[in-house]
Amino acid sequence: MDIWDIVIKNGKLVNPERESVVHCNIGISGGKISIITEQDIKGKEEIDAKNKIVCPGFIDIHAHIDGDIGCAKLSLVQGVTTTVGGNCGGGPIDLKKFFDEQDKKGFPINQAQFVGHSFSLRERVGVTDPYISSTSSQIKQMQDLAEKAFKEGGVGLSFGLEYAPGASFDEVIELSRVAARHGRLVSIHTRLSAPDDLDSLREAIKIAELTGVSVQISHLVYQYGAGVMSEAIELISNARKSGLNIWADSGMYTSFATHIVTSVFDEEHIKNFGWEFNHMFIASGKHKGQSLTEELYRSMRNNKEDAVIICFTGVEDEIYEALLSDYVMLSSDTGPSPTGNIDECHPQNAGSFPRFFRKMVREQKSISVIEAVKKCTLVPAEALGFSNKGRLNLGTDADLLVIDMERIIDKSDFSDKGRPDAYPEGIDYVIVNGKIVVDKGQIREGVMPGKSIRVV
Ligand SMILES: [Zn+2]
Repeated sequence: MDIWDIVIKNGKLVNPERESVVHCNIGISGGKISIITEQDIKGKEEIDAKNKIVCPGFIDIHAHIDGDIGCAKLSLVQGVTTTVGGNCGGGPIDLKKFFDEQDKKGFPINQAQFVGHSFSLRERVGVTDPYISSTSSQIKQMQDLAEKAFKEGGVGLSFGLEYAPGASFDEVIELSRVAARHGRLVSIHTRLSAPDDLDSLREAIKIAELTGVSVQISHLVYQYGAGVMSEAIELISNARKSGLNIWADSGMYTSFATHIVTSVFDEEHIKNFGWEFNHMFIASGKHKGQSLTEELYRSMRNNKEDAVIICFTGVEDEIYEALLSDYVMLSSDTGPSPTGNIDECHPQNAGSFPRFFRKMVREQKSISVIEAVKKCTLVPAEALGFSNKGRLNLGTDADLLVIDMERIIDKSDFSDKGRPDAYPEGIDYVIVNGKIVVDKGQIREGVMPGKSIRVV
């Protein structure tokens, strides 16, 4: 009789492709799913999943982990086995170097990367002012760098147009053409200039229309969750009906986090959105724990302090409305604090995925377990073109979760109310590439089975 590396017994297997739930045992060997059977099987390590679901590991399509292990661990305990970095126009450019280094040093979860336009590529070619457009020779240089990044395995190109309001439409189109040519995804943090600015979404749709590229609209709730979600969903749904390949991701909070020095916190921008200083919370740096005041705002901006601000805004119901559409996947938007301290972060870093299952599956019952699992596994796998991830079939990568749906709960909170880095409960086991990394909700330290995912 075969002895498998790991056996998960008695679980309810949620297969997102077949949209089925079956009682079966799974045997894992060599990092892959090797057997799925109703019969009794033996493993070197055995997990009893009685009364729990077993599903593929989550793919977080919108994240900024970019090699930060502390941040990765908070994703791991939520069930994220693959994170996608380089979003919103930032992150590493030299992807071969980045992937090689990550694989050498070891990482707990798998990493795929976008190459970012609005901070990274622009800065590399000398466009340091976010309010100006790039010259044609700078665009050409960025195209070459993007092409190189795709050849090195980048999953696509990301834009953070709200952070580079000067980027011309031409610049965006010319770069998107390179992604289209290589069959890669373009993720777009839209050029939002007011809470009801749907033209920014129309611009993103236009990019798909003119270039034929697949577009991923970033963190829908942070862009259109302050009163215009229905209109935003309608625009995207109509674009999809007309044949465009458009996806979107969205998170579980209305309050977003970003750096104080960015254009998002320009005075004009703050005014356009109607944000009050006392609704902006300093999450990191030497003033952490305080609300912003006009005086602090001015001094932090003048001193170019590298601090993260959490801006309390948005309409809670629009979180859930966004996630009901079948092309919208769950994302965390997680990223490390500039200080590197994991307790100086947004609770999204540790709470997004369990919060989704707790709120929408268990409490509201607005979405089924199968649909919820799909949004965190198969839908991002399809958007990214991953055939071995986000699926539960013989031979696919053994990235697997054992979840107690009765207990799943997020414990992280904003730092004035609780701990932003508190681990969730109910995600009892996380297996990455056939290795148990989370065991009864706790990380097995030093286990680094994550791999770089290089798209070819
Ligand atoms: Zn963003």
